[in-house]
Parts: sequence; structure tokens; C-alpha cells
Amino acid sequence: MAESIAIWQEDPGEPGTSGRTTRASMRQRLDSGSLALTVTPEPSADDAEVRAWEDLRYWTAVHTMERSRAMWLAAMGRPAGLAWLPGASLNVELGAGTELNAYYDREGLQFHVASVAEMRTGNIVRIATGESPDIVAHELGHAILDVIQPDLWDANFTETAAFHEAFGDISAILTAVELNEVADELATLASSSVFVSTRMSRIGEQMGWGLRQTRPDLPDPNCLRDAVSSYFYVRPETLPTSAPSSMLSSEPHNFARVFTAAFMRVLDEMMKVDVGPGGKRTRASVRRVARTAATLLVAAVRQAPVVDAYYHSVALSMIAAAQGRGRARYRKAIATASCAPGSSPWPRRPKPISASRRRGRPAGAEAAGVWPPRRRRSARRSSPTG
Ligand SMILES: [Zn+2]
Repeated sequence: MAESIAIWQEDPGEPGTSGRTTRASMRQRLDSGSLALTVTPEPSADDAEVRAWEDLRYWTAVHTMERSRAMWLAAMGRPAGLAWLPGASLNVELGAGTELNAYYDREGLQFHVASVAEMRTGNIVRIATGESPDIVAHELGHAILDVIQPDLWDANFTETAAFHEAFGDISAILTAVELNEVADELATLASSSVFVSTRMSRIGEQMGWGLRQTRPDLPDPNCLRDAVSSYFYVRPETLPTSAPSSMLSSEPHNFARVFTAAFMRVLDEMMKVDVGPGGKRTRASVRRVARTAATLLVAAVRQAPVVDAYYHSVALSMIAAAQGRGRARYRKAIATASCAPGSSPWPRRPKPISASRRRGRPAGAEAAGVWPPRRRRSARRSSPTG
């Protein structure tokens, strides 16, 4: 057996572009320890070409989940006895169906393999959502958030559903930063700000391309969603329930962009504080700040009351979490970023936090709530159509 294999870094990229790869071990295991994962199917094809693709998909998914799991476990402080909502080991199915989709459904992570006809030529392109580190880390993010704050799953508020999607995209971003190649790119950006569109901020380039072949209005122009945007908070009940990606709507994936952009501004401000005036970012400093931001976000999610104004609730808790040695210096940075014009999770006049905090863990998938109210929501999907 070969010792190592080339796997995708953060996304395979659009057809015709060559996504960047990195070398990874073919001995990595995920099926033991805290938050174990069972990934199927393992590569088995006899045909050398099919086997090569199965190997690429399998080892890309395995290494992405290992990076993401390790990053979130550290942010959680590695508590003892941690388990997934569905049980000790989470099932990850890389060939769950033929839609252009992926989701977490409280039974496991489901990744589909779709045959997409290119709009211009009719050529069929195979898109496996489990082959994209961005999509894999997004879905794992849903499962991680369900461990940290299970009450969010059936909280019937627009902002809690949208926060679940934002946390998935933040998971993709922070998982990408764990790659040396991506951390180095952020460290050496010409700009003093990292609040610029990069391949770290652009999530799901390949899946975005696939969706664009039938619904050009739904994904962003060069990816599924770019975490760097200028959307700012408005009360979601004042928005349309769906809209093209160029506009804000209350659809969870769309409205998630308000919180994700605010988190990107928080990262940016924290990195400026970290290096100080005239200082230079390094791989180590980029990663240190990203990991601290992840820790503060987890602390905020643990503390924030689950209320309708949930963005506000998390933002307040994240500022409150920035205290003590090594973190207090970020407090102003988080407050500044959270209140920045153009990308704020804060209502202009914060609504009082209501006493509607929901308690109790649902028994399982049957207890999953509904959003929008007219139809059942049984899974957190990556596609903005899901
Ligand atoms: Zn999602």
C-alpha cells in the first residue's frame, strides 16, 4: 500500500481549473477516540481509473474531517465523554445519492455524487460533494454545532437556522486555515487586511459551478458562497423568503452570510491586534488567531441564550468570552468588528433578549423542528435550494 496520496486542499475547483492538492498519509484513521467517524465506502474498485478517483475522494474526506475535528476539539477544550448526537461514532456516507447536495441529518453526514450537464455544452460533469474539503468541513460543522448546542436544531427561529449554516461555513474557513498552504497565503497577502476574497473565503467553488448550470442566480459568481461580503444586519422578518445571491433574504444559507461576514471581520481585526502596528503576519500567527477565534466562538455558543435575536446573542457572548490571559486584548477587536458598518450581526436597536430560551434535547430525528413552518426540515443542507 502506498504511504501517501495527493488530496484536494480546500476544493477541487470548477471544471477546467485544476484545484490544488497536498500530500497526505494513507494510514490516517478516524474511527477511535473522541468524536469518532466511520467513513464509507472505502475505495474498492478494480478499475484503476475508478480506484484512483475513489482513493482521492476517500482520503480527501478523511483528512479534511481529521483536520476539522482536531481544530474543533481543541476549541472545545477536549472535554471528556464527548459524543455525537447520533451516538459514539458518526456515519459518513460518501455515495448517499445522486443529487447535487450534502447534509447532516442527525443520523450521519450524507454526501451525494451528481451528474451535472454543463449549461453551454451539455457535457456531463461528475460532482461528488464529499470530494470537496469545503463542503465536508461545512457538514461536519453542523454535527459539531449539534454537539455544542443541540437546542439550536429545532429552535424555530430564522436566525438560529441561519447560524447553523454560518457555523458550517466558518468550519470550512477555519479547517482550511489548518493547511500550511492556506495559512501561508493569508500570512503573505499584500493587503494589511485579510477581509478580502481569497480561496479561504470562497466556499464550494465546484458545487457552486454545478448549481450555476441550472440556477445561475443562487450561488455566488465564483463559488457557492463567499464569506467576504458587505451584507449587514436587518431583521430577517423584513426580508423576502428567497432571493438571488446578489440580495439578502431570510433563507438560512442566504441570511447566514451576515454572520459569516461579521466573523471574517472579527478574524481580520484580531489578526491586526495580534501582529501590532507595522507587524507582519506569519503562518503561526494566522493559525493562532484563527484557533483563538474558534475557541471564543465555541464559548459564545455555549453561553448565548437561544433566542430569536440569536446573532445578537452570540455576538454579545463572544465579546464576553474574550477575557483572561491572552484573550482580553481581542475584546475591542471583536466589538469593533461586530459593530462595523456594512457587516454587523447586531440589530441597530438591539431587541431585548426574550425569555423564550428553549431547553431539552430532542429524542432524535423525529424531534427535528420545522423551518420554514410549512415544511419539515430534517437535514442541514449545503445547497441554497435545500
Ligand atoms: Zn449547511
